[in-house]
Amino acid sequence: MNAKVWLVGAGPGDPELLTLKAVRALQQAAVVMIDDLVNPAVLEHCPQARVIAVGKRGGCRSTPQAFIQRLMLRHARQGRCVVRLKGGDPCIFGRGGEEALWLQGHGIEVELVNGITAGLAGATQCGISLTSRGVSRGVTLVTAHTQDDSELNWTALAQGGTTLVVYMGVARLEQVRQGLLAGGMAPGLPVAMIENASMPQQRECRSDVLGMVEDARMFGLRSPAILVIGEVVGEQQALELVSIAG
Ligand code: SAH
Repeated sequence: MNAKVWLVGAGPGDPELLTLKAVRALQQAAVVMIDDLVNPAVLEHCPQARVIAVGKRGGCRSTPQAFIQRLMLRHARQGRCVVRLKGGDPCIFGRGGEEALWLQGHGIEVELVNGITAGLAGATQCGISLTSRGVSRGVTLVTAHTQDDSELNWTALAQGGTTLVVYMGVARLEQVRQGLLAGGMAPGLPVAMIENASMPQQRECRSDVLGMVEDARMFGLRSPAILVIGEVVGEQQALELVSIAG
């Protein structure tokens, strides 16, 4: 029996940012297991499939990971084509690697399909060029929320000279700010906080390291959101001013 599971990234939300390969997987699926950060609009590509919602947002009632994995295994072993649809990219803070290894360990063929990760999508949708030449020599993607609550090496991040993109940061803004300042980031370094990236309801709050917590509170920033921290954020503002002036 040719059991197979596709671990597919659904992108940040805009259904048009889905890859052609993701669409092909959806068209072939008998079972689609969908995370709650995925825009249900993408399900238009799989009217034939049985859809199972397996959301696990932090702090909310969620389907245990072990149950999700066993469910994938059961359907695959019954010969069904299973698509596990995840927000963004399956391998960026998405457990794609873990699930792939576990399934392969149980003799199941796995295919990983890229999606556009929220951090990259959010920045681009807001006109922020994450690796702007001469301003930033790279991007670092980090999560503010770790399984064991361990701290990031903020000093290394501050000294790295790369733009920082923080996932899962909304509930930990104060800790992020403290870490950034303790690590030596300039208090005036620009920050963009982007909520619902790529969706019609996308919102963007501009601030700096020192003011980010209060500004986010006044703005009413809600999850899902990413934080972009670095000179490239200010650069984009400068560009806007030029275009307004011109
Ligand atoms: N695999 C996903 C990330 C899952 S972790 C990806 O590659 O994008 C969940 C975090 O992703 C959220 O807490 C938030 O920080 C971010 N996120 C996911 N979708 C988002 C969106 N549409 N807008 C802003 N942030 C988003």
